[in-house]
Amino acid sequence: MNKREVFEQVSDMEKRIGELYEQLGDLKEHLGNMLEENNRLSIENHHLRNRLDGSETNDEETDESHVANEIPGEGYDNLARLYEEGFHICNVHFGSPRQDEDCLFCLMFLNKNK
Ligand SMILES: [Zn+2]
Repeated sequence: MNKREVFEQVSDMEKRIGELYEQLGDLKEHLGNMLEENNRLSIENHHLRNRLDGSETNDEETDESHVANEIPGEGYDNLARLYEEGFHICNVHFGSPRQDEDCLFCLMFLNKNK
C-alpha cells in the first residue's frame, strides 16, 4: 500500500465516521421523541386506568357513604408523584411537562383530592 492509498483510505474512513456520527445524532433525536411519547402514553394510560377504576367502582357502588369521584390512595400517590416528576396532572394540561413551574390547576387538583 503506497502513501496515496493510505491517505485515501483514511479520508474515506473519516467521511464514513462523519456520516455515522450524523446517523447517530438522528437516532438520538428519534430515541428522545420516542421516550417522550412513551412517557406521555404511560401517563395517559395511567390516567385512563384511574378513570376506568373509578367508573367501575361507581357502577358497583350503591353505598352512598362513598364519595363518587374519590381517588383511591394509590392513585393519588401516583398522580402526586407524576406532578413531582414535573408533569401536569390537571385536566387543562394533563401529561405535558411542567417546565419547573407550579401549576395552579394541578395544585388545586392535588388539594381537592388529598
Ligand atoms: Zn397543570
